[in-house]
Amino acid sequence: MVYAMSEKRGLALHWKIVIGLLLGALVGLSINATWTSGTWAGMGVNDAAAFLAGKASEANAEAGVLAAACRFAVNASRFVGDLFLRGLRFIAVPIVLFSLVAGVAGLGDVRKLGRMGAKTIVLFLSTSVVAATLGLLLGRFVDPGSFVSAELREQIASAQGSLAASKVSSAASVRESLSAWQQVLNAVPTNPFEALAKGEMLQVVVLALLVGIGLTFVPAEKSAPVVRFFDTLGDAMMHIVRLLMHMAPYAVFCLVAPIAASFGLEVFHGLGVYFITVIVGLAVMTYLVYPLILRTLVGRKHGVSVREFFRAIAPAQLLAFSSSSSAATLPVTIECSRDRLGVSEDIAGFVCPLGATINMDGTAVFQGVSIMFLAEVYGVPLTLADQVQVIIFATLISVGSPGIPGSSIVLMIIVLQSLGIPAEGIALILGVERLLDMCRTVVNVTGDSMVAAVVGASEGKLVRPVPGSVE
Ligand code: ASP
Repeated sequence: MVYAMSEKRGLALHWKIVIGLLLGALVGLSINATWTSGTWAGMGVNDAAAFLAGKASEANAEAGVLAAACRFAVNASRFVGDLFLRGLRFIAVPIVLFSLVAGVAGLGDVRKLGRMGAKTIVLFLSTSVVAATLGLLLGRFVDPGSFVSAELREQIASAQGSLAASKVSSAASVRESLSAWQQVLNAVPTNPFEALAKGEMLQVVVLALLVGIGLTFVPAEKSAPVVRFFDTLGDAMMHIVRLLMHMAPYAVFCLVAPIAASFGLEVFHGLGVYFITVIVGLAVMTYLVYPLILRTLVGRKHGVSVREFFRAIAPAQLLAFSSSSSAATLPVTIECSRDRLGVSEDIAGFVCPLGATINMDGTAVFQGVSIMFLAEVYGVPLTLADQVQVIIFATLISVGSPGIPGSSIVLMIIVLQSLGIPAEGIALILGVERLLDMCRTVVNVTGDSMVAAVVGASEGKLVRPVPGSVE
């Protein structure tokens, strides 16, 4: 199926999203710089949080029309952002189920699936190990921890200690999820309907694979209508994603503006070198490692240059940045890989959902740098064996973190504890965490599409869309 929406008039979608994102950041940063509690007080509001939540309190009795208009703007912006994310989440489970069942059943041969699965897992794991190692090496050699002054450490730790403590306590409950055995076991649903209802993506992938495999054993005259049924529904879901994408530029504005407004630029104070080190690691993955793999394993013979690859997946990257969630971005990652990049339905439907749950190279880079950073800040020496452990843990975390905002920071606490680094240390990085989350999610999603392209090319299932059919 070819991307055939009449989108050719006006600006291309990814540019509209870029504009939404930049405007959101600009508006948010201006609000951060100019809006103080005095601004609210000037409008008759003394308790802004209560006022925005719609709670009438004596303190806000004086609030006038201007304040009400501001509240309306804040609520409307939240509404648009949440509506968009809800739409994407709504689509994620059905899209994976329908397109994967149809794709696997369409393969007609279980051996092909095994080969495709093996390639995918090997690529996912090896890129994650590269990413974790890169993070560790950058953390070691740039040594961002040595740029943090003692006062800043204390100041931030005491100001955000309670926040860190709440994360520390929630870490205990996820400790067991880091065991490799448990991770594999958890992927197998005991009740397929529960997996669908709860939106357990890895379990939905396994379920769809099994149904697809089952269908290949049923005689074609019986299975064909069922496969067509799933295929048609998969296509219908894809059309809903495209409709939703019309909303993306506005939604991205609404998602980014409040983040920029609440963080501002002061969060970088004292953490600039650490922040830049993570960003350099993410950039190396995206602009050196992935292009190298693409050039070597896909190359021009499939008509996909590195530039075209990035152009095709730009909407998914921009959305990953705005939502900090590979799970929410998944429908768009599938759409971009399939219709804009040209990966076949079965491969995009298999690789992308699996990647959104187990392949997080950006997360692995972040973990590597952050653990080394905190070890330095707290003066905990790490032996070579410890450093190998950091790589293994960072890889496992990237496999085990769900694709939702901030998930990997919780798992990081376990690693810190096992290395003897005070877990409260995460308080130090919480200020910039959200921004780094936005950036690492871009890499996570890029890695998924890259593997989809490589596996697609190796199976002869990467066919560039007809020129002009993609905006
Ligand atoms: N937010 C990331 C994602 O969804 C996961 C993480 O690193 O926290 O891909």
